[in-house]
Amino acid sequence: MCIFCKIINGEIPAYKLYENGFVTCFLDISQATKGHCLVVPKKHVQDIFELPEVYAEEVMKAAVVVSHLLKEKLGVTDINLLNNSGVGAGQTVMHFHLHVLPRYADDEIDFHQVDHEPNFAELEKLYAKLTQ
Ligand code: AMP
Ligand code: ZN
Repeated sequence: MCIFCKIINGEIPAYKLYENGFVTCFLDISQATKGHCLVVPKKHVQDIFELPEVYAEEVMKAAVVVSHLLKEKLGVTDINLLNNSGVGAGQTVMHFHLHVLPRYADDEIDFHQVDHEPNFAELEKLYAKLTQ
């Protein structure tokens, strides 16, 4: 059984912040920033490709609930929501989870891409491939 299923079943402890029939939310053990937590569906699915729509809805609703909790209790005003699906994307626990990551002025995280000129020819080709 995976580590998050063990947390869901109560076999190993976690600092749970919110829970309902579909999802649980607990503090990330590594705290990339203060208040960093994970929203996890109570059904074992590996990644975004396996996530049923009803769980997707519940995960996002729980992320909203927990974001308000972080705002109220810690004064958090800035948050990134992040999911790593697949090893190539950095996924290390193979049970879908959404990171709720509070952001602070002095943290050293930077998700910004390098600015470059848009390549409209490439965009046209890509768009055609995705829509035909
Ligand atoms: P990812 O790299 O997106 O798969 O994220 C996995 C996350 O799970 C990491 O941020 C870990 O710190 C976190 N993690 C691993 N084990 C535990 C645990 N027992 N309790 C809470 N968080 C955990
Ligand atoms: Zn699992």
